[in-house]
Amino acid sequence: MQCLESYPSTFENEIITLRSKGYEPVFAKDIPEIINGNQKPEKKPVVLTMDDGYKDFYTNALPVIIRQKALDSGYVEVGSHIVHHTSLTNVSSKNAEYEIKESKRMLEEMFNTKVLPFAYPYGRSDKAIQCQVPRFSRTLSAYFSLN
Ligand SMILES: [Zn+2]
Repeated sequence: MQCLESYPSTFENEIITLRSKGYEPVFAKDIPEIINGNQKPEKKPVVLTMDDGYKDFYTNALPVIIRQKALDSGYVEVGSHIVHHTSLTNVSSKNAEYEIKESKRMLEEMFNTKVLPFAYPYGRSDKAIQCQVPRFSRTLSAYFSLN
């Protein structure tokens, strides 16, 4: 997994480049339908992800997303992480379940929407964690059947 940071102007140029190459941002939740052929995007689909809910997403990334009309409906899809942003491989199974479920519950309550996408903090997981997450959420790797 690669850690990426981007300045707003770089991010905007990345969006413009993706569009010029025929890509169109889609929601992660639409990936299974696209893979199954039930949804056929007009252009090549790409999922843009932002890690964590820091203020700079709102002040730097969101204006670019809106300006570039990166997503036509609603602009942003909310995915969950965990409550305390620790590695799930370092907590008990019971605590891992709490972290996963509570993060999703809080976001669903906050945004009044269903939250399915999930990203492992630091990209770390193990077999036990990979078995717990699908009970509540969907990782991008699950969308692509890579688990
Ligand atoms: Zn994170």
